[in-house]
Amino acid sequence: MSKAAPAIGFVSLGCPKALVDSERILTQLKVEGYRIVPSYQKADAVVVNTCGFIDAAVQESLDAIGEALHENGKVIVTGCLGKREALIREAYPEVLSISGPQDYASVMRAVHAALPPAHDPFLDLVPPTGIKLTPKHYAYLKISEGCNHRCSFCIIPSMRGDLVSRPVDEVLREAEKLVAGGVKELLVISQDTSAYGVDIGYAECEWRGRPWRTRMTALCEGLAELGAWVRLHYVYPYPHVDELMPLMAAGRLLPYLDIPLQHASPRILKLMKRPGRIERTLERIQSWRRAVLDLTLRSTFIVGFPGETDAEFEELLAFLHAAQLDRVGAFAYSPVGGAAANRLPDPVPEELKEDRLERFMAVQAEISAARLQRRIGRRLQVLVDTVEAGVAIARSSADAPEIDGVVRIRDGGGVAPGHFADVVIERADTHDLLARLASGG
Ligand code: SF4
Repeated sequence: MSKAAPAIGFVSLGCPKALVDSERILTQLKVEGYRIVPSYQKADAVVVNTCGFIDAAVQESLDAIGEALHENGKVIVTGCLGKREALIREAYPEVLSISGPQDYASVMRAVHAALPPAHDPFLDLVPPTGIKLTPKHYAYLKISEGCNHRCSFCIIPSMRGDLVSRPVDEVLREAEKLVAGGVKELLVISQDTSAYGVDIGYAECEWRGRPWRTRMTALCEGLAELGAWVRLHYVYPYPHVDELMPLMAAGRLLPYLDIPLQHASPRILKLMKRPGRIERTLERIQSWRRAVLDLTLRSTFIVGFPGETDAEFEELLAFLHAAQLDRVGAFAYSPVGGAAANRLPDPVPEELKEDRLERFMAVQAEISAARLQRRIGRRLQVLVDTVEAGVAIARSSADAPEIDGVVRIRDGGGVAPGHFADVVIERADTHDLLARLASGG
């Protein structure tokens, strides 16, 4: 490796979508011969990929920029917070460049201006999968950008714009490369996976000599051909989601759906500017469960939204009992700079919000524990993430990385990260399972 190759430090903050942006920028940097180094001191400049989703993330991003400036001095800022350029400039006028999410060209222009690339043909040897920040055996597959919804608590559409879907052949080719490079699990992400392709009229593309629509079901059928685990995130419960059930029942798609619901009271959903027919959602959930016995459902909710009454909160708890979701994330509502919901009257007092969050999570913990008990004694296939001191940490179809539970294999010394194993579940706690290797597994 040439000593002359300029070195870049990289700080990646935010959600899986931002992670994909980071991977793209890192891949481009590598292609152009830059070295990626793990410390501020060894770097000639630092790129900070920021998040601007909630106020805590804004602060974390600003702190990261400040730290990089203090430790290194040459800082290029990109990502969601980049949309709020004035805020960054006011705090740190000395940053070299500021760009928004997915603006890889601006980042590369700023890098070129600060550090002209050194050409070294050996450094052009980038693996065809690009540079990945997730462990080698799973990868996020971003199928679209932006969002056509206008949820009142969210500023993503104003930061990332309306939905722009990637043509299905491009996504399938990327997935194919990832699987050929050793990826065992593909995590499909977007802001609204169910809406995939609507912006381009579900355009037909060719892949493996056959036509495929740019549409969620066709995408899943294509991904199912690759033989990897395929897990769907951010799926709005629209009627056409029913089309996925046969694929799940046939074991071609993981029996897992992440459906962000946010609330269950029709009035609060209306204030959130989200679809409000929650009884239809419940019916749909029940019919999915009849079609796919092992289906795992995950969702996220916001408690303490402005105007939420005690009765509306109870409605939410009643929904939780009725829906029996397996995995749930919840947040106490906090205003996001620039969101329409900030203008709503009747904010819920902080203490009450926290109290409701605690009650909500207690109900969910009971549901989760009861549902996991049913798995005891069952044989499951798991994907091993890590092995430490003879205990393997793995995940079943029910567990997305980072956000769900895990399966601990107590005699897991003989299994390797990135490999599948068959286990028998012995115990369950609130969110995780304990297992032993199945004989012959
Ligand atoms: S669906 Fe709503 S919450 Fe999600 S990105 Fe779009 S506007 Fe934001």
